[in-house]
Amino acid sequence: MQIRDVLIVGGGPAGITFANQYKRIKPEADVVMFRPEAHSMVYCAIPYAIEGLFDPTRVFKRDEFVTDAGVEVEASNEMRRQNAARGSKLFRYAPWQ
Ligand SMILES: Cc1cc2nc3c(=O)[nH]c(=O)nc-3n(C[C@H](O)[C@H](O)[C@H](O)COP(=O)(O)OP(=O)(O)OC[C@H]3O[C@@H](n4cnc5c(N)ncnc54)[C@H](O)[C@@H]3O)c2cc1C
Repeated sequence: MQIRDVLIVGGGPAGITFANQYKRIKPEADVVMFRPEAHSMVYCAIPYAIEGLFDPTRVFKRDEFVTDAGVEVEASNEMRRQNAARGSKLFRYAPWQ
């Protein structure tokens, strides 16, 4: 088992912001961000994507925003499976994911 300094659960704005801020304060820390989604997303753009005003993939936030800061990103299939088994509605906003 690999021991990490910090495990961030969730790849929303809070997770992304924390990841960046923490690495700025503690660059040597070993930080990993887990999220069930294949991509982090810019939620405010989703209604426009649903309306067909632009390509839905443009709501995805680039992983480089955190990986360039030295944070590892793990898009977890297992987390996705467990959330789905619990009837989670985590994906209600992004049916194309
Ligand atoms: C359609 C839409 C439009 C919006 N427009 C705006 C806007 O214009 N301006 C604005 O300021 N705000 C807007 N918001 C609100 C904004 O998106 C949220 O306030 C913001 O996303 C909250 O960020 P967060 O990181 O705290 O949580 P979230 O973005 O909800 O991220 C949570 C993360 O944790 C993960 N997670 C949750 N539960 C679990 C679990 N059990 N196991 C593992 N992972 C889990 C999720 O999968 C996700 O990755 C909008 C929201 C929506 C849905």
